[in-house]
Order: sequence, then C-alpha cells, then structure tokens
Amino acid sequence: MKRAYNFNAGPAALPEWVLQEAQKSWMDFNNTGMSIMELSHRSKDYEAVHNEAKSLLACLLSIPDDYEILFLQGGASLQFTMVPMNLLADDKTGYYALTGVWAEKALKEAAKVGKTETAVSSKDDNYTYIPDPAEIEVPENAAYLHITTNNTIYGTQWHKFPTGLKVPLIADMSSDILSTPLDIKNFDIIYAGAQKNLGPSGVTVVIIKKELIKKNPELPTMLSYETHASSNSLFNTPPTLAIYLLSLVLKWAENQGGIEGIAAINNQKAETLYHVIDNSEGFYKGHAVKDSRSKMNVTFTLQSDELTKKFLDEAKLAGFVGLNGHRSVGGCRASIYNAVPLEHVEALAQFMKNFQQNA
Ligand code: PMP
Repeated sequence: MKRAYNFNAGPAALPEWVLQEAQKSWMDFNNTGMSIMELSHRSKDYEAVHNEAKSLLACLLSIPDDYEILFLQGGASLQFTMVPMNLLADDKTGYYALTGVWAEKALKEAAKVGKTETAVSSKDDNYTYIPDPAEIEVPENAAYLHITTNNTIYGTQWHKFPTGLKVPLIADMSSDILSTPLDIKNFDIIYAGAQKNLGPSGVTVVIIKKELIKKNPELPTMLSYETHASSNSLFNTPPTLAIYLLSLVLKWAENQGGIEGIAAINNQKAETLYHVIDNSEGFYKGHAVKDSRSKMNVTFTLQSDELTKKFLDEAKLAGFVGLNGHRSVGGCRASIYNAVPLEHVEALAQFMKNFQQNA
C-alpha cells in the first residue's frame, strides 16, 4: 500500500509507526480482550495510558511541576471561551495580538465574556508578518496577553516571544506545539488541538500554570479549569482513543530524538520548500515576509489564478494531497507538521521545480 503525500492542514499526517502500533492493539489492547475504545476510562489499563501521555508530554516539553497538563474536548475553539471565562475578572481586560483569523476568533469569543483590547495587529497587511514582540505594550493590570504562535492559514510564526510582561501570557499553539524547543516558563497557559502535531482530532491539550487554576462555583462546571485539574482530566469520559494515539505520537517523538531531533528535521523540511520559492525568480511567491515564515505551514501563490489552479490540479494528479490554500486566502499551502516525512517534502520540492520548468 502506498501512503499519500499528505500536506493537510489538520487533521493531518500521523507517523506511520503510530498507525502500525495502534493497529497491533486494535482488537486486543494489553491482553484485555478488548480494544482501547472498549475499556472503561476508570480501568487501570486506560489510566496507565492517560498518565503515560501526561508524563511523556511533560518530559518532551520539560514542563515544570508548577504546571498542570489537561486533556480536554471542544477543540482549541473552546479554549477561546474557557480562557476568558476563567481569567477575565470584571475589572480586567484581556489583550489580544491579532496575527490571523484564529486570533480574531479568540478575541471575538473573549469579547462575549468580558473586556478586551487589541494589543497589536498585522491585519492591514493581510497578516503577512508577526509584529515585533518588543513593541507590544500591555498594562500591568490587564488580565493577560493572548498570542497565536503559528498562524496556520497565513503561514506565519512567532520566532521570538514577548518578554518581561507583568501579566500572564496565553498561547494558542495548535499548529506548532512540539515542533521546536520552548521555554514553558515564558507562558502561563498553552493550548492546542491535537490534530496537527499531537495526534488525531478529539483531544485538546492545555498546559496551565497551577496558580491560575481557581475554584469558581459560578462557572459552568465543564468550563472551569479547576474541574479538570482536580480530577486528572477524568471528571467525565475523556476521548480515550485520541489520548491513546496521543501517547503513541509522544513515544514516536521521543524516538526522533525528542524536541531537538524533531526541530532539526522541521528546519530541514521548511528550508527545502522555502529554497525552491526563493530560487524560483518570482515564479512562486511566499505569502509571509521572510522573518515571520512558518516552519509548519508554507504558503505561496503563483503568478496568476490560472497557473495556481494548474499547479494544484497537476499536484493532485501526482499524488500530493491538501495543497490548496485556506479558503480565506487562496493560493497554495503545504502543511509540513512533525509527522510529514522529509522525503515527502523533497518530493514536493522536486515537483515544484519540474512544474516551473515545464510551465
Ligand atoms: N487555532 C489555530 C491556530 C488553528 O489552526 C485552529 C484549527 N485549524 C484552531 C485554533 C481551531 O482548532 P479546533 O478546530 O481544534 O477548534
């Protein structure tokens, strides 16, 4: 069986090893005579998987003890609501860095909950760049600053983060978590839907500083971080299959040399595609300005809509999947998350060169 050249933006490619491992235990997990999906979430066998996923993530990202790891549902989109519900007290304001549509959505939801402000925005330039973090000013009495570390649709990524903030830094890392070394201590909440770098859709990882987890009886139970933190994310039935697959992805990541090993391959993959774009004499044009380029989503256009369509049609015939740009920006986008093999990226680079030669 031939695996597709999968450049989907999410759900996205999973490591082949993970799929094979899952297949081995599909009918009989750990000699239970049941699949993982059929086990009680209160069973010892499931609990071991759940806790292993947590400890693997803590180890890979060097998450300090004063942070809690939560496995939630509702996607990253529910975090757009949970963050302000848990952190926006009456008199405080949540500040948002607008670097794309997902950041806009986070702000929109927060505005339904409390007071918000835009700290900085690159909207006027069609989100082609990440603002200089040094220029972001947030008052000391703000509730937090929210950023989107990788802008999946535009192909931009923060390579430096605001420092010296007096308020919590909240980061939506849905599309670049576990892709590059990170100092967790710079952040107070990190959240990410799993379906890009962590596993299948269905589970959302939240890494939250314990001091931000507060009991608030007025909050709907399921929307309070405290509910999930105090029950090891087992307050209600968790997405057991998704968490099992997450644990396998994390084992796979460990075997890649951990975060450093993964980052080295990610750098190589991103350079491979940007090299083609930069050496195409304008045939391919990158959407993002160079110093804001994403190593996860490479976005580009060709010189006309017709040529873009021809490129996408021919790429599809050649077996490349998911190269259409997001409907809100058009053009092309190659999502090259952790599990996309270097060889697939090299095949795409070669295809791009051949297409240009024959155009
Ligand atoms: N934030 C970012 C940066 C995303 O890329 C996405 C999904 N593509 C979301 C949030 C929304 O995630 P979900 O579908 O898990 O709600």
